[in-house]
Amino acid sequence: MKDGTTPDRTRDEERLLAWRDEILERETRIEAELDQPVSADFSDAVTERETHGVAERLGAIGMRELAAIDAALERIRLGTYGICRECGDPIEAARLNAMPTTTECLECAGAHG
Ligand SMILES: [Zn+2]
Repeated sequence: MKDGTTPDRTRDEERLLAWRDEILERETRIEAELDQPVSADFSDAVTERETHGVAERLGAIGMRELAAIDAALERIRLGTYGICRECGDPIEAARLNAMPTTTECLECAGAHG
């Protein structure tokens, strides 16, 4: 099918790998900022959160992003990237552009918020 809508898997993979590097770099910076032992007790961590809340939140987001990127890279390898996991239809190109790690088409994502 040469209709111009087939996802360019090589480009997607490059994009995801570049994004991954970006996050890893950011995480490394955050870890440097958090260069203190993190309290295991959440109640004790409240005051720490005042100082490190943003960095900790970024860290958690980064971990989720990395997991999503790894999953997307795995789907590229398996040849299922850009295919909705709910209905099996191709995910809209614009949606994939905006959210390269998405696993659902616009309709399915909207169906359950
Ligand atoms: Zn779908």
